[in-house]
Amino acid sequence: MPELPEVETLKRGLSKALKDDAIVGVEVLREQSIAFPGVEKFVSSLPGHKFKTVVRRGKYLLIELDGGVGLACHLRMSGRLLVREAKSKAEPKFLRVRFLLASGRELHFEDMRVFGRLWFKPKGKSFEDIIPTLLKLGAEPLDELNSKHLLVAFKGKKQAVKTALLDQHILAGVGNIYADESLFLTGIHPTVVASKLTADKLSALVENIRLVLNQAIISGGSTLRDYTDSSGVNGRYQNQSWVYGREGKPCRKCKAAIERIKLNGRSSHFCPLCQSS
Ligand SMILES: [Zn+2]
Repeated sequence: MPELPEVETLKRGLSKALKDDAIVGVEVLREQSIAFPGVEKFVSSLPGHKFKTVVRRGKYLLIELDGGVGLACHLRMSGRLLVREAKSKAEPKFLRVRFLLASGRELHFEDMRVFGRLWFKPKGKSFEDIIPTLLKLGAEPLDELNSKHLLVAFKGKKQAVKTALLDQHILAGVGNIYADESLFLTGIHPTVVASKLTADKLSALVENIRLVLNQAIISGGSTLRDYTDSSGVNGRYQNQSWVYGREGKPCRKCKAAIERIKLNGRSSHFCPLCQSS
């Protein structure tokens, strides 16, 4: 599943690739991919608008177009947004929405599992108006997050810290890989009760969350089954992960075998020695 670094990488890629371009046509091949408004309105409203800015909020991509309208995207499990040269030989298998661009290229929304969604933002509306979930998203881990956020959010929480880190109301966009990685670097066992963590541990955790996210962004995100950046290039973070996806392999610090448990339905990877408390 694309996580924050993948979406941030995509945001940076699209900001560059779509600069000075405009949408001249839209073709929806799968109606389910359009969350708002109806397909007809979606198709008729976007052409003629130029790309202005691309921002990321949590795992949402928010694209402002000229004329006060916008386009939002959530990739969910397997969605991808790719800028392709128009004369691509074969039609991509999982193409759900095709945007024809003034440059002659195409912006493709491809999505094998069809959980990803696109929204059109009409003039006079904000992205929050059409996607109310945006209002409930927690702190952005790359800038506004600090240990006080976590101290307040974890107060009285009987959940495991790993589960609390995945709560989008607390942190926007930190998913499974980066939760596992930052807990490893901070030496915190994933099952530790969130409210039991000291302020010192929490500030170290915040620093490590930022560290792993930034490293992943530099590597272009993680290589996951269906993820590639806007030009179709795979990320490389997973090759360098500390614990994620390394069950049974030796810990890169102490050589103990990495373990995997299920917490709240999600796989959690950890080193039994480096994360003993
Ligand atoms: Zn270890």
